[in-house]
Amino acid sequence: MTGDPDFRLDGKVAVVTGAARGIGRAVAERLAAAGAHVVIADRDTAESAVAEAAIHQAGGHASTVALDVTNRDQIAEVVAHLYDAHGRVDILVNNAGIVRNAAAVDMSIDDWTSVIDIDLGGVFNCAQAFGRRMVADRRGAIVNVSSICGEVTVFPQPQVSYNAAKAGVNLLTKSLAVEWARQGVRVNAVAPGYVATELTLRGRSNAEWFGTWMRMTPMGRLGEPREIANAVLFLVADASSYITGTVLTVDGGYTAM
Ligand code: NAD
Repeated sequence: MTGDPDFRLDGKVAVVTGAARGIGRAVAERLAAAGAHVVIADRDTAESAVAEAAIHQAGGHASTVALDVTNRDQIAEVVAHLYDAHGRVDILVNNAGIVRNAAAVDMSIDDWTSVIDIDLGGVFNCAQAFGRRMVADRRGAIVNVSSICGEVTVFPQPQVSYNAAKAGVNLLTKSLAVEWARQGVRVNAVAPGYVATELTLRGRSNAEWFGTWMRMTPMGRLGEPREIANAVLFLVADASSYITGTVLTVDGGYTAM
């Protein structure tokens, strides 16, 4: 494949969590098209197989591992397996995430804990396990998929656990970036606005929610998963070699209003 070397990932191994569908799948496809061997790490193994086949079909390199980002033992096994198989992991994209919509006064403890455990705890679990090896190798790039909800409170849908988790991801990103800056490991985040995936299905089929989202988005449309994937590619590639600890907003102008 040809292209600007600053945006190429040839010979690199990239792990993308939650890559079976949605934004993660678009990221996996984009990084594979840039030359990386992409590891699709998701708890949905059936959908992961479909995503892997699509990358092979397009001429890219990919494999799958079953991974639940809340399972630290499983993460340790996956890290060991990948270093055995490839001898390296250069890129980690912490993308797996869920949302639960419930008013704060009614929110169940499960709606709180499950979102915090996956969206914030899962990012730390994977960043720590892979980052430990990257720090030892003195080489690596990590991108955490945060959200505009880490910066501003969106409405009308109530989602206090999600907003709190994503705000945590932003400071987790900066904290790791500072800790690992001198060990050659860069850590950044992307913060998407509303994107057309299954995560937003409920809101997209609710006229009140969707109408508010579009009024609040200056560009007046949803983002496409590939538009988030392009920002991730920039942040994992050498093109962004002096960028660490940043949260790159990709939101059609939502947070500019
Ligand atoms: P999605 O629901 O389409 O896909 C999420 C993927 O994560 C699925 O493949 C699912 O199996 C996987 N996953 C969920 N929990 C997991 C776990 N515990 N371990 C491993 N995999 C798990 O969602 P999406 O819209 O593609 O969201 C991807 C990321 O983007 C999330 O972190 C989300 O918060 C973030 N985000 C999405 C939007 C949006 O509008 N869609 C906006 C901002 C941020």
